Order: sequence, then C-alpha cells, then structure tokens
Amino acid sequence: MTGQVHSFQSMGTLDGPGVRFVVFLQGCPLRCAYCHNPDTWEPGGGMAITTDEVLARISRFIPYIQPGGGVTLSGGEPLVQAGFTAEILRGCKALNLHTALDTSGSVLTAEVIETAALADLILLDIKFTTEEDYRHYTGGSLQTVLKFMQAMRERRKPLWVRQVIVPGINDAEEHIRQLYELIKDYPFVQKVELLPFHKLCLEKYQALKLPFPLEQVPAARPERVKYLESLLKHMLG
Ligand code: SF4
Repeated sequence: MTGQVHSFQSMGTLDGPGVRFVVFLQGCPLRCAYCHNPDTWEPGGGMAITTDEVLARISRFIPYIQPGGGVTLSGGEPLVQAGFTAEILRGCKALNLHTALDTSGSVLTAEVIETAALADLILLDIKFTTEEDYRHYTGGSLQTVLKFMQAMRERRKPLWVRQVIVPGINDAEEHIRQLYELIKDYPFVQKVELLPFHKLCLEKYQALKLPFPLEQVPAARPERVKYLESLLKHMLG
C-alpha cells in the first residue's frame, strides 16, 4: 500500500520509550494555533512511499532501536491515513518492534479505532480541556478526543498524555485541574508530559506565507511548565 509521508527521524528520543524510529505522516484535520508543522497539513503533500519501503527503512535501524526502543508513527495526524498506518503497525509487529502512535485522537471511525488498537502505546495530545477552547484553538472537538480515549480504554491501551502549555491560554492551575478531570479515570495512564509553547516555527509559516496565529504570545517559561507538570503528577498520585 502507498501512503504520504512527510519525513523520517531515525534516532528520536522524545516520542515514546527508548530510541525511536519516527515516521511523520502527512495530513491533519486540525489547525492548532501553535502548530509547528503546518507543512504536514495537506494530505497529498510529502512523498508517496509504500509500506514495504517504510518497513525496509525501519529494518535498517533495528540494531539502534532495540532493545527498549521502537517505532513511533506521528504527523500530522497518523490516523488520517488509517489503512497505511495499520499496515506499518502490523509490519512492525511482525518484526517484533514496540510501536507508539502519536495522535490528537481527533479522527474517529471504526477503522481508526482498530488501527490505533494495533499500537502498543498511545501518545495522546489532549490539546485543550474545554470544548470551547478546543474548537477555538484547533478547529476540532474535545468530545471526539474523549470518545477516542474511551475506545482506547476499552482496549486497555497504555497512554502517555501530553499537552502544550501556552501562556495566557492554558497555563493556569485551573486548566491543569480540568486536564486531571479528563484523565483521572483512565486506568492505564503511564506518563504525563507538559511541553512549553515556543515559536521556533515562525520561519516555516513565513515560507508558507501563512500567518502564525500566536505570533504575539510569549514562549512558555520552562519553570512554569515544570511546576504545572508536577502539580498534575501530584493530583494523579
Ligand atoms: S494536530 Fe499536530 S500537526 Fe495537526 S495542526 Fe495540531 S499540532 Fe499541527
């Protein structure tokens, strides 16, 4: 099967346990105000490549990602190309590789759920904690994300929860309490990661002749983000 891939990262260390081979897939239904990768939005962009070619690239890196690491499918939104993603995940399983799916949980069909369930770990970016903020800053719906979470819960999928912290938008303790409320009943949360908003993507937006909606917002202070993350971890116990 052929799909659209934006790029590969052969020795990632941020997107899942251990050393990761990361496949960034093309296409995303959201338009997050802080998106760092607007060049992944268009489903037809990037390069056309077959799952066999992707798996051959992954195979070359097995000595570096084993043991303890694995393959992460990211984007864009990897569940936009659910069939392609599923075939890569099955191929990785056949190679006995740990797999993680980096998703916003914003696409929801039966095929998407079955695809996500093939991954060993879900990295779920819960972008905003109220429906109003979610719609305003991403164009998507928090309700869809919560339904996706419920489907993953039924399949007992381990979850790493992530959120980008943006000054003045979701950096109050109240926002962290709301995030806690959303995840507290999910029994398989293994890790929470709050990430500071920054503006390293400005040049990309300029090159694409797109306005960056948060240009006037200052970068998040790492100490503030660390504090909020410790608060969330404390709440989760
Ligand atoms: S989900 Fe990711 S790729 Fe899509 S718009 Fe949001 S930040 Fe960008």
